[in-house]
Amino acid sequence: MRQRIAVLGATGSIGDSTLAILAAAQAQFEVYALSGHQRLDKLFELCKLFRPSRVAVPSASVEAFAARLQAAALPTDVVGGDNGLNDIATDSNVDTVVAAIVGAAGLPSTLAAARTGKRILLANKEALVMAGQLMMDAVANSGATLLPIDSEHNAIFQCLPMDVQQARTHVHERKHGIRKLWLTASGGPFLDKSFAHMQQAGVAEAVKHPNWSMGQKISVDSATMMNKGLELIEACHLFDLPEDKISVVIHPQSILHSMVEYVDGSILAQMGTPDMKTPIAHALSYPERMSSGVQPLDLYQMSALTFTEPDLQKFACLRLARQAMQAGMHATITLNAANEIAVAAFLAEQIRLTDIADINEQALTYGSKHFSVPSQASLEDILAIDAQAREHTQHLIAQLV
Ligand code: NAD
Ligand code: MG
Repeated sequence: MRQRIAVLGATGSIGDSTLAILAAAQAQFEVYALSGHQRLDKLFELCKLFRPSRVAVPSASVEAFAARLQAAALPTDVVGGDNGLNDIATDSNVDTVVAAIVGAAGLPSTLAAARTGKRILLANKEALVMAGQLMMDAVANSGATLLPIDSEHNAIFQCLPMDVQQARTHVHERKHGIRKLWLTASGGPFLDKSFAHMQQAGVAEAVKHPNWSMGQKISVDSATMMNKGLELIEACHLFDLPEDKISVVIHPQSILHSMVEYVDGSILAQMGTPDMKTPIAHALSYPERMSSGVQPLDLYQMSALTFTEPDLQKFACLRLARQAMQAGMHATITLNAANEIAVAAFLAEQIRLTDIADINEQALTYGSKHFSVPSQASLEDILAIDAQAREHTQHLIAQLV
């Protein structure tokens, strides 16, 4: 029986990498459903290519998109908006949900998939940053399988003992002898540039990542190192560890994708060409292995691998993420929301790149006084804080421009 896959966020960068693998492995996988938000022409082409049973588009586009599919004699069922995404994420015909929507917009459908016991390939790190506890509880209660495809988390997953991978025991159980995790960071396009240079940087320079080709939001997050901050919070939830058990190290070559340090002094790492198709293929075929189409590393041609400590003054977002993780869920929701708004303002050329960290910090300060979440927070509680944090951040930006 073929594994039936729903790719939520099919028109993005992770969507591209996932569909490239699926196109080459149609004997094993059926592309059952797709979703897209912008670039609906691209989504239409994907529907022609993969002939999915279902597709989700924004509510306002349902009619026109359905007419287009019909004119092309495609039998695809079209659904709209958040309800449509949830409908697909919980569809009983779907085995695996690739959660590749960017930002908070991906949380409801990812959580719905977790509650329905799906196999989830998680790219949407913001879902864990906002609702880590809720997501992990949903996975445990429903018997869902959560496989990280963020390259760092996928690398750590691969370096963990099999019992931990299969969720039979915890990372922190003594017998595993795990001392800490190491998240590697490339340092982004401004690693070797001054803070003054960063202050003046335009959008084109900020989104030009040295090693990875990614969507705009995560590219800006990489330039500020907010991405590593979000990944730190993501790792705390995925691996059930406090933030002080997770260190970040700058490794500009992006060859070593993260590590697990054991008490005997061993550090296990996963290495490879920096290409998201490797972690995606790993998770698609887990616990087996499949070809990803990625060129293997040519070790004979490789130059030095270097490691340094991150500069938390220049990359304040990383410091803020640790602070937010310590402060609790209201703070991680606030940080994520403020950052999404600030990144959008930078991309719209309203604020400077370096304003993002300042805005995030001010939002966190405001949030610590005004926001709180109940101990058993619901999705609604989380979305309410997210909305308030966005509104406050818009005020902060309005004062700047
Ligand atoms: P992208 O911008 O290229 O694609 C985002 C996708 O989400 C698109 O399909 C878009 O249509 C959809 N989308 C956007 N807004 C939406 C909304 N409001 N409602 C529904 N759908 C919406 O982003 P990406 O680079 O593919 O990243 C996707 C996720 O994967 C992010 O959470 C990112 O952090 C994570 N991730 C990406 C990479 C990478 O290499 N690109 C690596 C690791 C993790
Ligand atoms: Mg990553």
